[in-house]
Amino acid sequence: MTLTEPPRSLRLSIDTDALCANWRLLDGMSGAAGAGAAVKADAYGLGVDHVVPALRQAGAAHFFVAHWSEVRGVLAHARGGEIAVLHGPLASQDVDYARASGVRPVINSLHQAALWLDGGGGPCDLMVDTGINRLGLPMTALNDPLVARLEVVTLLSHLASADEDGGLNILQLERFRAACAAIPARRRSFANSAGIALGPDYAFDLTRPGLSLYGGIPRAELGGIRQVARPQAAIMQLRDIAAGETVGYNATFTATGTMRVGVVSLGYADGFLCSWGRSGALLHNGAPLPLLGKVSMDMVVIDLATAPDLREGDWVDVPYHLPEAAEVSGLSQYELLTILGQRFTRS
Ligand SMILES: *Cc1c(COP(=O)(O)O)cnc(C)c1O
Repeated sequence: MTLTEPPRSLRLSIDTDALCANWRLLDGMSGAAGAGAAVKADAYGLGVDHVVPALRQAGAAHFFVAHWSEVRGVLAHARGGEIAVLHGPLASQDVDYARASGVRPVINSLHQAALWLDGGGGPCDLMVDTGINRLGLPMTALNDPLVARLEVVTLLSHLASADEDGGLNILQLERFRAACAAIPARRRSFANSAGIALGPDYAFDLTRPGLSLYGGIPRAELGGIRQVARPQAAIMQLRDIAAGETVGYNATFTATGTMRVGVVSLGYADGFLCSWGRSGALLHNGAPLPLLGKVSMDMVVIDLATAPDLREGDWVDVPYHLPEAAEVSGLSQYELLTILGQRFTRS
């Protein structure tokens, strides 16, 4: 007998039309450069199985993951040569895996360059650190003989503060131009989502948007980006409570009159963190249903005063327009996407 799973009480709808429209917008804003796609962390939590085929159909042909463990999921939908692993090799097994799969490592240091070359080498990408001081070859190592032996397909660097205006963007641009002059490569890649909005000087040959593909708006120039992820949760129980009764752990909400409340199947284990509790609300037909008391691991309680017709089993919307959700929750737009849990049905 095969067990058929019952439908879940959490669902995340992924608007692939909006996703593809966002990719086309970012690709257009990249000017002469083409846009790739950062699909690390399971496409920022939305699921590579939904995101990669849609983006590929839209025209994307360059996919970036962070970990080697993320390659398999993308390889189900893309060729090895279309995938690069940002963390680069940490062990010889990573090198073997790259060579066997055709996936390119992003070499980030002389240590990684040696590991790659010792394992047989071949086409690779190279990340140069121009000021973020995270992963990347230091500018002082550009002329190292090990670097000269690399077959660099994509030469990359990463902006630290593209979502802000200021001197660091320009400083990093100047350093990246110097790196491009020093290291021969088939293509150059510099801008993330916010970097695309900095204009054509930052685009080079290939841009690497992530956040804005999925509805994030890190700069006002990206105001045309559309919402992609729409979480919904089911109401499990209705309760009528009297004045003076409290709701949830530590009794932080007290009813001032009789009220109808709904217990919803959504909690911090699903990525709906406690920071939503202070001023957050769920939505029904766009109208707010304020959260009452603390967010629990598996549930929240909402005020149904403005939605008396809602019943057990009905769905309510989680407000996930990312700039607004970030404002209310105190979380970053990146965090809001990547913490959405495994109990959502994604479709
Ligand atoms: C995550 C990442 C990106 C995508 O950045 P967004 O800000 O999400 O557009 C691009 N490049 C590198 C190296 C990254 O780590």
